[in-house]
Amino acid sequence: MNDQSKSGRKSLLFKSYVWKSKITWRLAFVTFLTLLFMQVVFIGAYFVKFESYHNAQIFNMLKNEVISSAVMDNMIDGAINPFETKDGDAFKRSPNVLGYRAYDITFEVLDEYGKVTGLNADLFRTAEGYKQVVTGDGYVDVLITAQDLNDLPFYIAFRLDSTEWSKGRLQETTENAGLLLGLSLASTLIILMFIGSWLLVPTLFLSENLRKASLNPEKPEIDDYPYKADDEIGTAVLTVQSLIRQNADNISRIKSAAQDQIHKLAYYDTLTGLPNRILFLQKLAELARSAMNEDGQVRRWAVITIDLDHFKDVNDTMGHNIGDAILRGVGKRLASALPDTAVVARTGEDEYAITVPMVTSITNAKEIGERIQNVIRNEPFKVFNENFQIRCSIGVATYPDDASDPEQVLKNADIALNRAKEDGRDTIREYVEDFDRAVQLRFQMLRDLRDALEEEQLTLHFQPQLDLKTGEVIGAEALLRWWRPDDSEQGGTYISPGLFVPIAEQSGLIVPIGEFVLRNACRTAKTWHDKGHNVRIAVNVSGAQFHQSDVVALTKEVLEETGIPPKYLELEVTESVFMDDVEFTIETLMKLNQIGVELAIDDFGTGYSSLSYLRQFPIDRLKIDQSFIRNALQDEDDAAITKTIISLGHSLNLKVIAEGVEDYEHEEFLLREGCDEVQGYRYSRPVPADQFMEFLETYNGDLEHFKKQA
Ligand code: C2E
Ligand code: MG
Ligand code: MG
Repeated sequence: MNDQSKSGRKSLLFKSYVWKSKITWRLAFVTFLTLLFMQVVFIGAYFVKFESYHNAQIFNMLKNEVISSAVMDNMIDGAINPFETKDGDAFKRSPNVLGYRAYDITFEVLDEYGKVTGLNADLFRTAEGYKQVVTGDGYVDVLITAQDLNDLPFYIAFRLDSTEWSKGRLQETTENAGLLLGLSLASTLIILMFIGSWLLVPTLFLSENLRKASLNPEKPEIDDYPYKADDEIGTAVLTVQSLIRQNADNISRIKSAAQDQIHKLAYYDTLTGLPNRILFLQKLAELARSAMNEDGQVRRWAVITIDLDHFKDVNDTMGHNIGDAILRGVGKRLASALPDTAVVARTGEDEYAITVPMVTSITNAKEIGERIQNVIRNEPFKVFNENFQIRCSIGVATYPDDASDPEQVLKNADIALNRAKEDGRDTIREYVEDFDRAVQLRFQMLRDLRDALEEEQLTLHFQPQLDLKTGEVIGAEALLRWWRPDDSEQGGTYISPGLFVPIAEQSGLIVPIGEFVLRNACRTAKTWHDKGHNVRIAVNVSGAQFHQSDVVALTKEVLEETGIPPKYLELEVTESVFMDDVEFTIETLMKLNQIGVELAIDDFGTGYSSLSYLRQFPIDRLKIDQSFIRNALQDEDDAAITKTIISLGHSLNLKVIAEGVEDYEHEEFLLREGCDEVQGYRYSRPVPADQFMEFLETYNGDLEHFKKQA
């Protein structure tokens, strides 16, 4: 141990925590008591010894005095009672002698002086210890026997005043007690100094460090042990010190690894490793904060959202492995095709978002969108040696042109993306403010439509379908009407199904609405049948209903419930139904056909009709879209299409009905071309059920009827 550390350790003794510690005080207390006890025992023993020594001294002194006195001489001279000589007074003059009594050998009193109470011959028989000294209160009786006097025939009992000695002894005792206390304290301190330096200081240092470590195990603010660790405790202190530091290291390592992991999970997509929507938004916010460059000009960023078209089908039919591989491939392609400054994120199942700074070479966000579209579309994705042609819909918005809030820009891009999807997919749409308002309106309409269903604002109108050759009413199409109450004079307006049916389809509300239509249409038709008008009721079924509900079960249920023979119900589906899931559609149509209901393809000619499926589907009727009829007289193409549809239908053994027949010329044209059935304003607008009943009752079954009317 070097001097410096030694003194350092001593100075630590004066650190407050040393003196605040319990163990210090306990040690001090025990040490002090032990020392005190030892000294008291030692001094007590000394006093006992001292008293006997003192008594022996008095005894010897008196004995010698007696022996050397004239009494002895007189004894020798042969006097009978030497105490009666004047020399006997010598005793009386002896200092401190309170009294004496002298006996002869037979214990006859020879002489006495002063206070002699208690000084009797019994003393010589009962005294213990020395047998020569008996101590009393304030006196000492000293007994001198014949033996002590070299066999002179006397016993002498002296009573000496002991008050002076007692006083002296008391003084000595108090002096000694102070000394003892002081000595004990000093020794305690010295012992503590050593114990402190070897044991207490390192132990307390250790405990202080442990306390600090437990307060903040990750960043323990512990002191370095300032001494040489040359003994077991020092080594232990150093070991604990390094363990605390190791522990802190471990904790922070584990914590930062966990934080990294959490960060990854929270901000990155595990499949592609791309940032997720949250991180993308954060990046956008960062870009927005640093958008202002040194010249005070705001940098512009294109924000692009991408949705893979019909990706769900790939996933469903090919399995998730293929789907995942394609998603990863798309992520990779996007990341490598874009500059390093771009941020590519996967924001949903098959959705990606990208932001790219607009530099001098690219100033148009749509151009970037086109580039991205090509990157995905130009080359198929190869998975397990199979090629997958992926297309995508893209929404484009620009920061800060379209919104100053980055989150809003992303929302705008999403709005544009939705528009792209609505507009037939595989396309790019740029955000324009009107979308926004349109979206708001649609939301409002959706809310109102929900209420409409509950508050019975939905009704059905019916439009007749006639046999063109016989003029007979063969059916009626049920057309949905929404009477939406408002503040106008009429108290409300009719909303066209063309406006609200697409919204109902998107929101799934088409399912309960479709159920309402089918049930009411059949119920109404039943009332006509009951009156002898056996007309078919045609009900529109949208593609969404096909996929979101069990149309077959509903149809069966409604037919049973209303008692309408199946052949009097016709379901109109548009060509779009066939686009989504061909197998499922065939299956459903087959089942409907088995039930016995009729099936028609509505708006025929406008969709991506493929002739091949017409053969596969159990269809009864083609309904030529009214746009062809409307222009057939002016437009050769439309006339040609109409003619083709009619002959196509007939070649497949299908009935052909034309809708949108407004005037006689249309009727004439259709009759000439061999069309089977007609529907249109020429015969009747769609009307409420009671008016339709009136129509049935008043119509004479001859098409001439309408000629006259017109
Ligand atoms: P759609 O099934 O093709 O119905 C024919 C539409 O043409 C009806 O429009 C009808 O009022 C109209 N129309 C009939 N004759 C003429 C005519 O001579 N001239 C003109 N210009 N139009 C005529 P509406 O009622 O507005 O229905 C529009 C579309 O809404 C329907 O087209 C149908 O696709 C859909 N829709 C109507 N009701 C329902 C329904 O209950 N369920 C479903 N899913 N869709 C429905
Ligand atoms: Mg229809
Ligand atoms: Mg139609």
